Amino acid sequence: MANLNIDSVKERTFDAIVIGSGISGGWAAKELTGKGLKTLVLERGRDVKHGVDYPTTNMYPWEFKHRNEMPLSVREENPIVSRCYAFHEDAAHFFVKDKEHPYVQEKPFDWIRGYQVGGKSLLWARQTQRWSDFDFEGPARDGFAVDWPIRYADIAPWYSYVEKFAGISGNKDGIAELPDGEFLPGFPLNTVEKYFSDHVKKTYNNRHVISARCAHLSKPEPIHFEQGRVQCQNRVLCQRGCPFGGYFSSNASTIPWAMKSGNMTLRPFSVVQSIIYDENKGKATGVRVIDTNTKEVIEYYARIIFVNAAALNTNMILLNSTSNRFPNGLGNDSGVLGKYVAFHLYTATVNADVDGFTEFKTEGRNPAGGGYIPRFRNVYKQETNFLRGYAAGLGAYRSSHADSSGVGSNLKASLSSPKMGGWSVGSHMMGETIPKESNYVKLDKDQKDQWGMPLLRISVDYDDNDRKMTDDYLEQVGEMFETAGFKNIRKNITQGKAPGLDIHEMGGARMGHDPKTSILNKWNQVHTCSNVFVTDGACMTSTACQNPSLTYMAFTARSVDYAVSEMKKGNL
Ligand SMILES: Cc1cc2nc3c(=O)[nH]c(=O)nc-3n(C[C@H](O)[C@H](O)[C@H](O)COP(=O)(O)OP(=O)(O)OC[C@H]3O[C@@H](n4cnc5c(N)ncnc54)[C@H](O)[C@@H]3O)c2cc1C
Repeated sequence: MANLNIDSVKERTFDAIVIGSGISGGWAAKELTGKGLKTLVLERGRDVKHGVDYPTTNMYPWEFKHRNEMPLSVREENPIVSRCYAFHEDAAHFFVKDKEHPYVQEKPFDWIRGYQVGGKSLLWARQTQRWSDFDFEGPARDGFAVDWPIRYADIAPWYSYVEKFAGISGNKDGIAELPDGEFLPGFPLNTVEKYFSDHVKKTYNNRHVISARCAHLSKPEPIHFEQGRVQCQNRVLCQRGCPFGGYFSSNASTIPWAMKSGNMTLRPFSVVQSIIYDENKGKATGVRVIDTNTKEVIEYYARIIFVNAAALNTNMILLNSTSNRFPNGLGNDSGVLGKYVAFHLYTATVNADVDGFTEFKTEGRNPAGGGYIPRFRNVYKQETNFLRGYAAGLGAYRSSHADSSGVGSNLKASLSSPKMGGWSVGSHMMGETIPKESNYVKLDKDQKDQWGMPLLRISVDYDDNDRKMTDDYLEQVGEMFETAGFKNIRKNITQGKAPGLDIHEMGGARMGHDPKTSILNKWNQVHTCSNVFVTDGACMTSTACQNPSLTYMAFTARSVDYAVSEMKKGNL
């Protein structure tokens, strides 16, 4: 019997455990296994195998029962996830449904999740920009949150490292506030976007309109072929899962790579309930898992643990990891765990009509989505009545209309030569928000989910800074459109939009110099529990306005490198 027990513990013991298999967890798995560590990857959702488990990927529009719309009954049952622009028949199976995974909204918050192997990497819009020192120095310069314990120079080589493997397309634009990366060729702007880009360059100092940088293989390198991925086909059906591996997802890239190493054990259907802390050893020894099918609670052990369950779920796991040493959650001596949650401000759009350019039309598709306006407000100095700034997406389109009356060859002819309408242009705001103590998550004392995990209570709201920033975006981008000669400018604040729909929630276990005011040190290592690392959005001290996932990838690769070198030195 004793031997059986020893064998069972042995089978459940690994060098490293990774919690979550999304964008950051996939990177942790790849890096740890690549360095020879036997690694257990725990994923609460089902397995999604690249190519095999993308059921809609090659479907034609007419093959969808509801022509890719969501039936009213589904929308009524799922009011939260239905507000996400990508929740349609072709990808609904990759989204968490409201009722199955409840949470408590102390204030309205649309929490959009993907619980499966690959996490939200199957659904993301693949926009990838680096941060710069203007972002890392933000809290110290502008007096909010705490100082980041790192600067751009610390993370720059790791951006390069992950970009080369993931495959990021973009142009070397030479903009200090949006550093260039290791790019595959950028997707070109269309003629109206290019016109606007030239106009902005001529008219404004330090404002730019560039091709959006995105995680697509515009021209794959040998390292991408080695992953079994090939050139992006510009299908723009990415949210269905891409059988070509044309864009970066954990499923197409890091997870199969880690599997190929022979060092990874992947366990789907495994909700991590908490991290086990051993007071005698003064460190974490493993995790408690609830098998989602059998509800059995199983313990797994390892020397180091990477928490990559996505920002708010990571907060939930840490808060639920209580012990005599840490009665308020793992590493939470400071009491800041769960606090200073922040997000991105996707609250406004500006649209307009464009005269002329009728000799041009848009043919083909741009998987990058068009243009990107990097942050231009308050970059070099404080110049407005709000802190920080915003970036904006930009796209120009030409409408067309095919006459579908008639039959036979007449119908075919009119369908193949649609009447072209005019051009229009649109922009959406992507603002930075200021992390505040009053924006927090915590565990509900009474309510539990179907696996016995306490429900997360989310209390996050906009503030005056957000409102002033939104007004400024409308004014500035409106003016840029006006000076470009665009007509019928329509400025819109999305009414009633709760935080969360930007799907960039961050913070709660922020990095910092001081254990009294932060949870993690400069290596993403829990200050007071040195063998636990957090490298997803929970670690973010501030949010900048860039899309965040590339930064999570870089943090993860850097942190694994540190953790393994410390292990080798016998420090972990
Ligand atoms: C529609 C959409 C568009 C987006 N566009 C962009 C974009 O353009 N650019 C960008 O940078 N980001 C974008 N994002 C956000 C991006 O997807 C996330 O930032 C990224 O996936 C976060 O990576 P992660 O590893 O932290 O979390 P995820 O990718 O969500 O992975 C977390 C994993 O952990 C698992 N998990 C959770 N709790 C537990 C538990 N207790 N035990 C075990 N496993 C657990 C989950 O099931 C999941 O698989 C977008 C997201 C969506 C949905």
